[in-house]
Amino acid sequence: MKLILFGPPGSGKGTQASLLAKKNKIPHLSTGDILRFKLKQDDNFAKELSQIISGGNLVPDSIINPIVADKLLSDECNNGFILDGYPRNKYQSDFLINFLEKNNLDIDLIIDFLADTTTVKKRILERSKIENRSDDTVDVIKTRLDKYFSETQPLAAMFKAKFKDKFFEINASQEITKIQYDIENRLKNA
Ligand code: ADP
Repeated sequence: MKLILFGPPGSGKGTQASLLAKKNKIPHLSTGDILRFKLKQDDNFAKELSQIISGGNLVPDSIINPIVADKLLSDECNNGFILDGYPRNKYQSDFLINFLEKNNLDIDLIIDFLADTTTVKKRILERSKIENRSDDTVDVIKTRLDKYFSETQPLAAMFKAKFKDKFFEINASQEITKIQYDIENRLKNA
């Protein structure tokens, strides 16, 4: 099963991706998690990445595109994948669409997590008490949300037009179990 998730920070796509990954035994490819893992290496590259991420800005496409391409071609993804946090801008989405076509990878479902700004801001601030992420401060959350709505959300509209009935919009303000239930129901018909 091959899935792509869209949705603003705090919309709960990471939570649902983990649940789906476990249940369907496919990897959860979160570009945020992959990059945060790279921060643990104490080298110059990690320092550069850390500055970009703490400011809520996007890591250059020239870094993230090959990381995603390598993952998608690895054995880990033989039975599918859940892409979370990618693509995030037009260049990444052009790269991904071209890559999927070239490698005959058919997407089964794209899920768009719809949630309003007030809900997601509240959730991220709650999460920040537990997770201690450098980008979960009020100012940086604003930058991340602005970026999502200006750069990423228009891509979701483009994917909706392209993938038609394989594009599923979920009300992400609902409870975790209800979202999970709605997604599972939709996947039965994917
Ligand atoms: P969120 O969506 O909650 O902001 P993520 O964990 O998906 O959090 O991403 C955290 C940060 O990692 C982003 O703000 C950005 O700096 C970097 N990042 C993640 N995915 C990408 C991507 N596809 N392109 C560029 N940068 C990315």
